[in-house]
Amino acid sequence: VSELVDFGCDGVRGKVTSKKDLGQTKNGKPWFSFILDDGATDIKVTVFNNADKFFNDVVVGQTIEITQIRISIKSEQSKKFDHCASTYEIGLKDQSVIKVVEDQVESKIKIQTKTINEITALDSTQAVNCILFVNNAFLKESQDPQKPWWNISLQAIDIEGTSAKVTLWNKELEKYQYTKQDLQKFKNQTIGFYKLMAKKDEKYGLQLQANGSTQIYANDLSNFEKAEEHIDFKNSAAFQGMVQQLKYMETSPDQRSKFGRMGEMKDVIGGDSIRCLALIFLNANVETATYVGCSKCKKKDCQGCDGAPTRKYFKVSGTMADNTGVQQATLFDNQAEQILGISAEQFSVMEPNDQQKKLQQGITCEVVIKHQAQNGEMREQARIQGLSKETNYTEWFQYKVNKLIGDKVGMM
Ligand SMILES: [Zn+2]
Repeated sequence: VSELVDFGCDGVRGKVTSKKDLGQTKNGKPWFSFILDDGATDIKVTVFNNADKFFNDVVVGQTIEITQIRISIKSEQSKKFDHCASTYEIGLKDQSVIKVVEDQVESKIKIQTKTINEITALDSTQAVNCILFVNNAFLKESQDPQKPWWNISLQAIDIEGTSAKVTLWNKELEKYQYTKQDLQKFKNQTIGFYKLMAKKDEKYGLQLQANGSTQIYANDLSNFEKAEEHIDFKNSAAFQGMVQQLKYMETSPDQRSKFGRMGEMKDVIGGDSIRCLALIFLNANVETATYVGCSKCKKKDCQGCDGAPTRKYFKVSGTMADNTGVQQATLFDNQAEQILGISAEQFSVMEPNDQQKKLQQGITCEVVIKHQAQNGEMREQARIQGLSKETNYTEWFQYKVNKLIGDKVGMM
């Protein structure tokens, strides 16, 4: 279908995703329409010729090939009823041939997702697929008991960090057994929307709304099980922008350490270390951020290194946080140096004002931490075993998506 741009083609292949019942034209002629989807895009096929005969050849869920078709650019009139992604529409001729074809080996349809910017650039109302991260969710409801309605409006951002509002009406949400009380379930979730309606409005700008054909894949496996689709991401690396904009911290995958969240630290006491994405703030006290130590053994009052020269080292307490919890940790020299981007020696010769500023910034890092209870105290601390500002957001994003789709469906 996506190759229709090449007008020379006279056949299409795709899966029938929906079919309208037979209707009658003003002249009493039967007609119907259906939607064909090849995974990359969908297109509306309208049948006026031989509608009775073709109606039985078109079965929802089957992959079909149609040859001898008529392709035209969607008219303004059609656009009102045709919300398919394709800019073309198809008509069948008397001599058109519909053939059922074997589903391709790869049974999962690849969904083309669009970014908010791409959606904004569309010139007409369309159904789009997108993956959005929900920053916040709000409930609106009717004050009139005669006309009860409610909706959840999501403040969401996409992979590039562009924000948009998505409105989910009670009618659509109830299909998924969501209630008003599920508002919280949407927050801080990555949600896949299949066939979300995108409409542009002079007054309100871009409007994203669910309608009857929209499918919502939230972090809820009961929904994932229904998902036969396989989500295709264009630009996972761009996710970095999103994470930074949000200052949202999540876990990141690693071959050796398990993903984790700050809030899970207490569950792994004495156990494995976990790898988290965390926002780190250092103690902004300039005086206590560094110490003078032996250049060989780093000790403060070294007696044994044959009078080796001294140098400055960082040793600064810090706070690591993600959206599930907070941990205190001490950052030793190389860790603080990585975070701040300068050595303790360089730091010590900066202007006091600049030193202060340097210490005051929050930095997102990937950290491998292990739980450590303070000696004799109940106060919990984490020991940082590894730290990197070079977070692998691609992996992290895939981890999120794995969670989103669920292991049951099988992953890319
Ligand atoms: Zn020493």
